[in-house]
Amino acid sequence: MKKIPFFNYPALYQEQRSEFIKAMDETCAKGAYIMQQELLDFESAMSAYLGVKHAIGTADGTMAILAGLIAAGIAPGDEVLVPSHTFVATAAAIHHAGGKPVMVDCGRDHLIDPESAEKHITSKTRGIVPVQLNGRTANMDEIGRIAQKHNLFIVEDACQALGSKFAGRFAGTFGLAGAFSFYPSKTLGCFGDGGAVITNDDQVAAKIRLLRDHGRGTDGKIWCFGFNSRLDNIQAAILNIKLKSYDKYIARRREIACKYDASLRHLTQLLLPPAPDSDPKHFDIFQNYEIEAENRDSLRTFLSDNNIGTILQWGGYVIHQSERLGLNNDVPYADAMTSKYMLLPMNTALTDEEVEYICEKIKEFYQA
Ligand SMILES: *Cc1c(COP(=O)(O)O)cnc(C)c1O
Repeated sequence: MKKIPFFNYPALYQEQRSEFIKAMDETCAKGAYIMQQELLDFESAMSAYLGVKHAIGTADGTMAILAGLIAAGIAPGDEVLVPSHTFVATAAAIHHAGGKPVMVDCGRDHLIDPESAEKHITSKTRGIVPVQLNGRTANMDEIGRIAQKHNLFIVEDACQALGSKFAGRFAGTFGLAGAFSFYPSKTLGCFGDGGAVITNDDQVAAKIRLLRDHGRGTDGKIWCFGFNSRLDNIQAAILNIKLKSYDKYIARRREIACKYDASLRHLTQLLLPPAPDSDPKHFDIFQNYEIEAENRDSLRTFLSDNNIGTILQWGGYVIHQSERLGLNNDVPYADAMTSKYMLLPMNTALTDEEVEYICEKIKEFYQA
């Protein structure tokens, strides 16, 4: 069996290579690099896809979260609840907006635990940033109830969850704003960095449009201090092509998840993510296939010896475990999980044969 890399970047380009070359060539030949038609086209395609009023391209997902938080009106010292099982960028965005990130635990599905969120509320808590991790949307009924009861804003980190739904509603549409990333390995990945914020609130949208372009209004005047955080036109042109086949990619990821589930479900040494359609409230897009495994490190070595690439999200540490950040660490599930969690290959370059081989090798490891 040939090598099965955890992720296959070159394959993503080959899938629609001639279309990509044509789009890049046309964009460059026009000299249309920044804030041109391709970006406007992508913003309307994305807002149409999600059924929201506004989609605003940004340079990356981190800036998308930061812009959403600033537009939500966060003030210095405000506490914002965020799960510890996320990329450090989520907490960094809260920090750079002037807030204090407060770590919340996750549950068995690896998403924010509403009970833990409520437990961490103080008189200073202003907002909550649920992270729609691994392509699954959190229980937003519960998060919404908590936010309403305690008068908190919601800004969603939906960087891993474009197209995912809870109770029929898209990730990113539950709060004041939702942030997305188009980093190459994301389900909708471009060929570099990219991101977007979505919102149904006209004022929030106007503020984010200012923030991403130096505070410049359409009148050319400066309305506030902003950032340089625009989504490049070439990336927008590529995303326009990819968004057209996006549902097909989601369907294939869900198919792979079904195969993993059917083949590995009976292994008591593993905790698998919820299978597609196992809970009618959730529509998961499987950005990742994250499992918990007994003897995780030996399993990874065994798989690697058999040419199968796996990784640990965030390099094996959730954010409160970076002690230099000085965050609260009363999140026992997330803490214990990091000795067991790992990602199996999950991408549209995988063949059925490869998925079967991965499952066979995992079973072989635990039978030995
Ligand atoms: C990818 C990611 C981000 C950041 O996105 P960038 O585009 O890399 O800035 C934030 N949060 C989560 C959960 C992510 O997976």
